[in-house]
Amino acid sequence: QYPFDVEALRADFPVLDRKVGGDPETAGEGEGDDTPLVYLDNAATSHTPDPVVDAIADYYRSYNANVHRGIHQLSQEASVAYEEAHDAVAEFIGAAGREEIVFTKNTTEAMNLVAYAWGLAELGPGDNVVLSEMEHHASLVTWQQIGKRTGADVRFIDVTDEGRLDMDHAAELIDDDTEMVSVVHVSNTLGTVNPIRELADVAHDHDAYVFADAAQSVPTRPVDVEALDVDFLAFSGHKMCGPTGIGALYGREAILEEMQPYLYGGDMIRRVSFEDSTWEDLPWKFEAGTPSIAQGVGLAAAIEYLEDIGMDRIEAHEDLLAEYAYDELTALGGVEIYGPPGDDRGGLVAFNVEGVHAHDLSSILNDYGVAIRAGDHCTQPLHDEIGVAASARASFYFYNTVEEVDALVDAVREARDLFA
Ligand code: PMP
Repeated sequence: QYPFDVEALRADFPVLDRKVGGDPETAGEGEGDDTPLVYLDNAATSHTPDPVVDAIADYYRSYNANVHRGIHQLSQEASVAYEEAHDAVAEFIGAAGREEIVFTKNTTEAMNLVAYAWGLAELGPGDNVVLSEMEHHASLVTWQQIGKRTGADVRFIDVTDEGRLDMDHAAELIDDDTEMVSVVHVSNTLGTVNPIRELADVAHDHDAYVFADAAQSVPTRPVDVEALDVDFLAFSGHKMCGPTGIGALYGREAILEEMQPYLYGGDMIRRVSFEDSTWEDLPWKFEAGTPSIAQGVGLAAAIEYLEDIGMDRIEAHEDLLAEYAYDELTALGGVEIYGPPGDDRGGLVAFNVEGVHAHDLSSILNDYGVAIRAGDHCTQPLHDEIGVAASARASFYFYNTVEEVDALVDAVREARDLFA
């Protein structure tokens, strides 16, 4: 039924065998923990398999050193591993090479890097930046505030009732004064898979750059920056089996060359005098100070782990669970799911149950060991448009099973009946 051996993979994630229910103050001690964990909050963060934990531990145990500065062997080993992690990311997303991959803390920092380094320098009154109504705050707040500082207009592509981008509206909004089109690839609230290539074609016709927020797509499906024809793309390591504290920005080499640094300091310079400084080559020009070395090593290990499974098979598994969850939740009755139909979405479902607040629902589900997210999922303006303050969101990864979706649906049924 599954495109790979899910049970075998689950063995790499000891946390998935955990039981929950005890007092969070006694975390890890197991006191009162007697309910099997059903972890369906993967869009917030995914779990970390043993090979990735081992790679990070091995770095600290065997070759922990600062990068780029030492002649000694440990520093050389750390530098090679850290630099090769950039190569692994480049290859994973179809970039030309490491010079196009800047390591950041996360997607949010990657977005801010471009907004500050490129946006503040290039935008001004008369220019515009085009986003969509379904942007995550990481992009929405960033460009909104850069718009205020530069005088550039920030525009939002409408979302249709079915949760898709209104492409006619996009074609109206994107004009010769558009400098940047920044759109989420897979919506973390609606599950919509947006037609980034189509948007890129429209944007490039008007000489605008395109930035894809790939926080939900790179972990869950094959992503190729050449095929998407994007100028920038960002994602976070912690949503794809990697550690927290590491993310990546892809940028076309010619654009990154033109951009001035975002942060100044050590590691990003070539020559410094009291009067002036020159910059290191790409991508190091954008990586000031001691970087997240262990996390970079962990991200490379995570990519190797995902590639061993196969991104197309991970996508197929996500599709299977999303469609099943969509159908089963719909069949319950009294459940409203946001976004496109079950057979045409990423691996998540955000929904509300009639008469039950999303936070109450999440709390009841927690009693059943089912971990989901409740809130606005960092898309407050989109929730305003939908007309709800909050929603519940179940999000899947390759280690989730049909039985876990059943556990979700059973718990939602109990909650609905409790409030009926
Ligand atoms: N964009 C999208 C679509 C996301 O789902 C998230 C994470 N919720 C982000 C951006 C921000 O990611 P991070 O918090 O890792 O910077």
